[in-house]
Amino acid sequence: MSGMSDYLERYPGALMNTFGPPKLVLTRGAGAHVWDADGTEYVDFLGGIAVNALGHAHPALVDAVTTQLSTLGHVSNFFATVPQVELAERLLALADAPAGSKVFFTNSGTEANEAAFKLTRRTGRTHIVAAEGGFHGRTMGALALTSKEAYRAPFEPLPGEVTFVPYGDAEALAAAVTDRTAAILLEPMQGEAGVVVPPEGYLAAARAIADDHGSLLWIDEVQTGLGRVGRWFASEGVRADVLTVAKGLGGGFPIGACLGLGAAGDLLQPGNHGTTFGGNPVACAAALAVIATIEEEGLLEHVTVLGQKLRDGLAADPRVAEVRGEGLLIGLDLVSESSAQVVAAAQERGFILNAPTPSRIRLAPPLVLTTDDAEALLAAWPGILDAAGVQ
Ligand code: PLP
Repeated sequence: MSGMSDYLERYPGALMNTFGPPKLVLTRGAGAHVWDADGTEYVDFLGGIAVNALGHAHPALVDAVTTQLSTLGHVSNFFATVPQVELAERLLALADAPAGSKVFFTNSGTEANEAAFKLTRRTGRTHIVAAEGGFHGRTMGALALTSKEAYRAPFEPLPGEVTFVPYGDAEALAAAVTDRTAAILLEPMQGEAGVVVPPEGYLAAARAIADDHGSLLWIDEVQTGLGRVGRWFASEGVRADVLTVAKGLGGGFPIGACLGLGAAGDLLQPGNHGTTFGGNPVACAAALAVIATIEEEGLLEHVTVLGQKLRDGLAADPRVAEVRGEGLLIGLDLVSESSAQVVAAAQERGFILNAPTPSRIRLAPPLVLTTDDAEALLAAWPGILDAAGVQ
């Protein structure tokens, strides 16, 4: 096989320049470790951006996908499959869904949100209130719900009408929602913004505001759901009308889902929405394996304990101004705008980290990250900050 530099040179000649230059060419993975095309090993603290819940090449996931693909790989949505029905029931049970709740499967988080956006239109209302700093995806619909100007501006006009309010400010939310509001859309923690955590009670306040106006409460758990924060859903305890999930659900196999909870489960009717691949039996088998393995390996508890250890250890360095998050979704602010340098210095030392903003670092490693791997990063952390010149 050619070395890494060969593929890095060929990449821009063959792939659209939407992501900028890739940092590495990765060729294989095992657990929370990956190897590049030159054979260098890294501990993966990004996990495909909160996706590889079971790490890389977990036998349970490999077996589920292989078995399903060698049995029945794809049918159209003119037919049902066993994994599809079982996964829908499993997700509704995990969400403690009331009677009447239903699932629509997609291939990504963006598509889960696109389905949910259409679902909200079936209320007969069109106004959505979403949060500044929120991220919901890149299709025209999901982008319309995402506030970041740099993402939106090249593609306007986007579907309306969307009001953005400061995240975490319940008063601002109450002032923006009216009897014309179809839905309030919020993440339980804003992942792409660098793991921003709202004040205690914010989601419950959003629930009450939605109830006051007959609006839906739509919670985007694409990044936070399925064990990432040490429980199945970060919003547990607050009743949503719509929940969207993806990322960790398939553990790396593409799948997303839009859950319509209670009466919202019946808003989309025949002909209102569709997909060729969504609910594919292989993807559903992968997701069932992810959920079963999280349970069998006690990963929710593991994630809670290990996340705390990582947050405490990272915060111990005075060059870290703040550490946020829960479980293995961790965001930290550096005292200076040097997150790109920190990511580069970490990579030099065999750790993959992520810089969602110039001063923020995000960690979203596989839920199967070992204590040894976490300790290795903590031991290297002061040296990484030194090398990056953080001060
Ligand atoms: N919603 C949230 C909260 C996300 O974090 C993301 C991706 O980062 C998305 C939606 C879009 O998901 P996808 O990239 O799978 O389309």
